[in-house]
Amino acid sequence: MNKEKTVSGSPYVLPALPYKENALGATIPATTIAFHYGKHHQGYVDNLNKLVAGTELAGMSLEQIITQTAGKADKAAIFNNAAQIWNHNFYWQSMRPEGGGEPPASLLRMIESSFGSLDACKKELANAATTQFGSGWAWLVVDGNKLSVVKTANADLPLTKGLKPLLTIDVWEHAYYLEFQNRRADYVNAVLESLINWNFAAENLGAPHHAASTQDMHR
Ligand code: MN
Repeated sequence: MNKEKTVSGSPYVLPALPYKENALGATIPATTIAFHYGKHHQGYVDNLNKLVAGTELAGMSLEQIITQTAGKADKAAIFNNAAQIWNHNFYWQSMRPEGGGEPPASLLRMIESSFGSLDACKKELANAATTQFGSGWAWLVVDGNKLSVVKTANADLPLTKGLKPLLTIDVWEHAYYLEFQNRRADYVNAVLESLINWNFAAENLGAPHHAASTQDMHR
């Protein structure tokens, strides 16, 4: 065993889901989790381990790999797989059984001062998620002293823009196609109404840096 931070370097591992595979109900049933988590997320982990084996990147955390390879055409495959591991680690935690409802008070205050109301915030998230053309992600982020909603394409993430993410919704077709086919908006609205994990967003709001939440999943 290495003395320090073995969880950060390769081989990277697929973190355990924070709930049972059938815990998210009809919106994201076990059939979708089996492919999305068991095949896609696992695939990014396997790919990254192959891509960095024997290179100087092998000892780095996911965040370090992401920031060092972002925007470099010759490192695109490494960036894409590392970022997709990070994004999915964050996505699974962005939902919980019996989610939705009201955010904790501190987060709700920031949502209201940034968007006007919780409903307006959810509308912006839904709009970003449904208007992202092709594959990508919708995010609630800290942007300076307020919150905002951003969308990213493919594997890209707020980390490369210096923004701190609070939660995300995966809008790649593999996230919803088995249940919803072309009806992305129905998937997004169901996530926002019954699965979104405001407690996770509130924890990230109070966390000293954006990496804390994904490191938890490596334990
Ligand atoms: Mn996905």
